[in-house]
Amino acid sequence: MNIKCEVIQDLLPSYIEGLTSDESNKLVNSHLSECQSCCQVYNEMKQEIPITIQNTEKPSNNSEKKLVKRIKNKIFTVITTLVITFSLLGFFIGAFGNVIFQEGNPIPVISSIIELEFTDAEYVVFSTGPDRYVSEFKSGDNRYSVVLKYMREQGWDFKEQMGSGLIFENEAEEIVVETRQYTRKYFIWSVPEIETKE
Ligand SMILES: [Zn+2]
Repeated sequence: MNIKCEVIQDLLPSYIEGLTSDESNKLVNSHLSECQSCCQVYNEMKQEIPITIQNTEKPSNNSEKKLVKRIKNKIFTVITTLVITFSLLGFFIGAFGNVIFQEGNPIPVISSIIELEFTDAEYVVFSTGPDRYVSEFKSGDNRYSVVLKYMREQGWDFKEQMGSGLIFENEAEEIVVETRQYTRKYFIWSVPEIETKE
């Protein structure tokens, strides 16, 4: 290999990447056109370099795509969460309206209603002392029939209804079970603490 070949081959990597000056390019071009061995080296380098360039570019490209994908996934998750949250909120407000805040913290009542919906229970206690229950209105003779049945089991007979109060009696006394409409479908009722006389 003569000196010129050595110089040309030193220049080749830069030449292939287009980093050499016009003057150098002319030199390389004219040498390549007449030197078989340098031409061969040039062809080999030309094939190698674009591959190494591709290889170094691809991973960054990929990681960029991955990052974009991750961000898209994250945005999707956030939007989905927001949509679900607002749908649930909308559902509860739609189903229960403003009344859900009438009884203070609506969570115990709402979870009791959910329990009613998913079990055969006719009533669910949501607070005690006095015991407060939530039930579904019944169609038929008395929409409070759940309360009547419950009180009969406790030894109380239904006497009459006065407004929202249901009056029950046994041999000795009377008690009033207060009812309150909670939603169109559900009502709350509270049984006063009964002093059982034996
Ligand atoms: Zn040469």
